Amino acid sequence: MLEKTLVILKPCTIQRSLIGEVITRFERKGLRLCGMKMTQLTDDVLSEHYSHLSSKPFFQRVKDSMMACPVIVCCFEGVDAIEAVRTITGPTTGRKAPAGTIRGDFSMSFQENIVHASDSPETAEAELKRFFKPEEIFDYKLSTFDYLYANDEF
Ligand code: ADP
Repeated sequence: MLEKTLVILKPCTIQRSLIGEVITRFERKGLRLCGMKMTQLTDDVLSEHYSHLSSKPFFQRVKDSMMACPVIVCCFEGVDAIEAVRTITGPTTGRKAPAGTIRGDFSMSFQENIVHASDSPETAEAELKRFFKPEEIFDYKLSTFDYLYANDEF
């Protein structure tokens, strides 16, 4: 199914000048970029975004790290995009993530792990609403679409 998912390039990615490297991974995979902007996250929006971590001792530290400088939020679209993006992102801990994944190639850390990616259709829908206004998501056609999929794949 054609899905949209949220990716956040975290402050560590902006500070380490890895924006282009990371966006290139998603572009090369064949995902369509539907929306993209730089934004400064706040404690309130992060408390909502990371509510599943609110009882963890590192909750405030993770939020502080996400507010260290502006982030870049992206919406990518593709067939089964939520799972595909998580696969190329890799597991949470950078130093354990397999080589070839974004976290495996660019991170040594639990926390400073380059990107956030939605992990289910429910979270993708809620997270895209949290970070984008409807008019910031663009539904143009990718001219290479017919070369990305067979016509019965979506
Ligand atoms: P993921 O980003 O892989 O979906 P989680 O939703 O569990 O992982 O955690 C959200 C973010 O919180 C992680 O990406 C990471 O930056 C941070 N985090 C998770 N676990 C830890 C930990 N044990 N220590 C420090 N930071 C953590």
